[in-house]
Amino acid sequence: MKYLSIILVALCLFSCKNNHEETGKLNIVTTTTMITDLVQNIGGDLIELNGLMGAGVDPHLYKASEGDVTKLYNADIIFYNGLHLEGKLVEVFEKMESSNKIQVPLADGLDTSTLIGSEYFASNYDPHVWFDIEYFKQFSSKVAQVLSENDTENSALYAENLKVYLDKLDALQKEIRATIASLPVEKRILVTAHDAFNYFGKAYDFEVVGLQGLSTATEAGVQDVQRLSSFIIDNKVKAIFVESSVPRRTIEALQQAVKSKGHDVTIGGSLYSDALGNYGTIEGTYIGMFKYNVNTIVNELK
Ligand SMILES: [Zn+2]
Repeated sequence: MKYLSIILVALCLFSCKNNHEETGKLNIVTTTTMITDLVQNIGGDLIELNGLMGAGVDPHLYKASEGDVTKLYNADIIFYNGLHLEGKLVEVFEKMESSNKIQVPLADGLDTSTLIGSEYFASNYDPHVWFDIEYFKQFSSKVAQVLSENDTENSALYAENLKVYLDKLDALQKEIRATIASLPVEKRILVTAHDAFNYFGKAYDFEVVGLQGLSTATEAGVQDVQRLSSFIIDNKVKAIFVESSVPRRTIEALQQAVKSKGHDVTIGGSLYSDALGNYGTIEGTYIGMFKYNVNTIVNELK
């Protein structure tokens, strides 16, 4: 990867042209599907957009392919989550710092005093901030601001798109709060494969327990499974959840441990954690994903 990057930089100095020069549109590269969907909503067809990660992809482990490196070098602007969510891409981003493309780690704009701390990440913060809709609204404003500054002709259109999207996110927030209000607080215990839902828990009064720690890069041990199975039994938790971007076996091991102690817990379906559903489906959008997750959680824990 190191040498590949160096070769590509050298090649690009002579031959790479970005789309900005060819079509007049800004060439944007995004990392996770959540950020790709957001930028699509703000940029629409005013921009050329390339999302690197697809449905079901785990950003903690994602490595840039050769094709990705080319896309990144051709980009005018790169939007990514930051806080070391895209752990293996950081190195690639750092190598490009000397080039004059604009890199925007969206979470860097958030007020760190409100973030959840974590020793698992080099950033010292839990990076799964998109599960708080208020943070996602701040991401949206930042994207609109950066696009507007770099494509001033279309400033008014970006501002309009932002307003429409923020209104949708406000409506989402209202709907989610109403759905969760139907679940008694004592039943708000969310057990999943990895700790992606801490911001969700903070926003909606859920106790969140992950089997695997914050990053999927660390495997759950036998002790974690035993500890958590006791917790499930003690708290009469009805359902536990798998995640689209984490192997199912981690949560199945937990279900087995509960069963071996003479109790039962169902697997309440698959939640979207670090990636959206397939592009073109309802769950392939941030808003659709959020509604799907909340309906699944509330229905199964009731
Ligand atoms: Zn994660």
